[in-house]
Amino acid sequence: SSAKELFKNADIAMYRAKGLGRNQLSFFEKEMQRQFLFNYEIEQKLAVALEKNEFTLLYQPIINPESRAMTGVESLIRWESGSEILSPEQFIPVAEKSRLINGIGRWVIAKAIKQLGDWDETSEKPISMSINLSPVQLSDSKLLQCIEDNLTRYDILPERIEFELTETALLADVAQSSMIIQAISDLGCRIALDDFGTGFSSLSHLMKYPIDTVKIDKSVIPSFEDKDHDAALLSGLVKMIQTMELKSVAEGIENEKMADFCRNIGVDLLQGYYLSKPLTAKEFEQRFL
Ligand code: C2E
Ligand code: CA
Ligand code: CA
Repeated sequence: SSAKELFKNADIAMYRAKGLGRNQLSFFEKEMQRQFLFNYEIEQKLAVALEKNEFTLLYQPIINPESRAMTGVESLIRWESGSEILSPEQFIPVAEKSRLINGIGRWVIAKAIKQLGDWDETSEKPISMSINLSPVQLSDSKLLQCIEDNLTRYDILPERIEFELTETALLADVAQSSMIIQAISDLGCRIALDDFGTGFSSLSHLMKYPIDTVKIDKSVIPSFEDKDHDAALLSGLVKMIQTMELKSVAEGIENEKMADFCRNIGVDLLQGYYLSKPLTAKEFEQRFL
């Protein structure tokens, strides 16, 4: 959406510049060209990033609010390009547009499931792994096979893997998307609705999909840092999720008050900097296994 915004702004600026005369126009054309080249450069580098082994996964613990026990992790990708570490927000949109996300996404699945297998060797805890899926990946013909192969290869029960999809992905209403989601669910993997609360559709509308978990977006969690937090909205959402017998996870828990509030209204699991930031595999082992 930031690229969309940029183009919209560039358009507005261009029309304004046209009104002002030729020099301004060429300035804005140069700016757009610069942005285009920047994205092009990212795309070129992304195309070889896999073979150059430049991606890593960080793992953010997911915590039970009652016992404070860790029950699972969410894998979050990072890209080390040259001396820079890029966040997914900087490169996933480019990867989606170029469809490079399919290969990158399959790498994420293999890496995350392998990691679970490695942790099984040293720890008794059968923790679960949450993996983000881009809507583009739902049309990757190799996706299902990739999931199945890695589960078999690393001897992981499907129910320990939860795939996170946003509402946009669910509603990208290609018959193909819902078929693949159903197939992933039929394999025995779990499906989570990510970033809930940021979109516009009602939860009941989304129930035609085999959803197991709802992840409540951080923008819906009252921070308790000012007075006008909307605690009632969150309580209502959680009640609704409970009524539908789905599991709830609150994201972006940044302080004790947020954690307490979520626990009191019956949120099942918590995730956020207050509990732990995303960690390297090593850091995670040292702190949680
Ligand atoms: P997301 O799935 O909603 O992931 C949660 C994001 O919130 C992560 O950002 C995480 O680091 C951040 N976060 C965690 N706790 C807190 C907190 O307490 N406060 C705040 N302000 N933020 C918190 P990250 O790692 O930069 O990832 C951004 C987005 O990129 C993810 O949002 C997800 O949509 C996407 N992404 C990450 N990894 C992958 C991947 O492997 N594949 C795909 N397709 N997308 C990915
Ligand atoms: Ca997620
Ligand atoms: Ca999220």
